[in-house]
Amino acid sequence: MKVWIMTDLEGVAGVFSFEEYTTPKGRWYDLSRKLLTQEVNAAIEGALESGADEILVVDGHGYTGINIEELNEEAKLLSGRPLLLPWELDKGFNAAFIVGQHAMAGVEKAHLSHTESHTAIQNVWINGIKVGEIAIVAAVAGYFNIPVVLVTGDKAACLEAKSFIPQVETVAVKEGITHGAAISITPTKARKMIREGARNALRKIAEVKPYKVETPIELKIEFTEESKSFAEVLSNRSYVEKIDTRTIKIRDDDLLSALKKWWL
Ligand SMILES: [Zn+2]
Repeated sequence: MKVWIMTDLEGVAGVFSFEEYTTPKGRWYDLSRKLLTQEVNAAIEGALESGADEILVVDGHGYTGINIEELNEEAKLLSGRPLLLPWELDKGFNAAFIVGQHAMAGVEKAHLSHTESHTAIQNVWINGIKVGEIAIVAAVAGYFNIPVVLVTGDKAACLEAKSFIPQVETVAVKEGITHGAAISITPTKARKMIREGARNALRKIAEVKPYKVETPIELKIEFTEESKSFAEVLSNRSYVEKIDTRTIKIRDDDLLSALKKWWL
């Protein structure tokens, strides 16, 4: 069984702010990498216990969010940029995990929530439904008939995952009090829960439907006011429709093709 693991940093237990934890300039960045890598290891261990024999970990956060030296030796790591779609999901995986995930932009009590960029993007919609990174990853996996069976992150991310994939196994490792503050369980406890979650998730893989987006696709992206130049640049392309000064729309018959027109 082949398992693909997307990772992010803002939904990891013990990661508390963008500035100090999620960029290489932050004074706790090395700690964050360790915390993420160990949560990923817990997911790998659970997967191995349920029969996985090939595991690819994707460094979704960038800035080398995974420390390969500490990564479980049974996994391989996809890292570096650009990370082009579909992130190797076309290579015959049986299941996908999302580890360390945050909720989409604009959600109440969602710790460090954003959609792809917390500075550049205000909102994203696919076919009129507001989506975040969970639905986007699940849709790309679903395009290749791969179900997302496990999502770990803050409580809001877990609720969001369930709203798109009702059967998904989730592990909440913290709860947002405000956008910038959260109550986190300890990393040790989080790893135990994630290991168990991963084990359970693969055991019920047949119950989880791949997340499918209906075609044709209408992808709408609203940039933040400070980053509306992205909308101006994109709307100069023939396949992009300008909605207003900071919002664009892309229509396509194919999900992957639509996302590739947006992905820079
Ligand atoms: Zn993210």
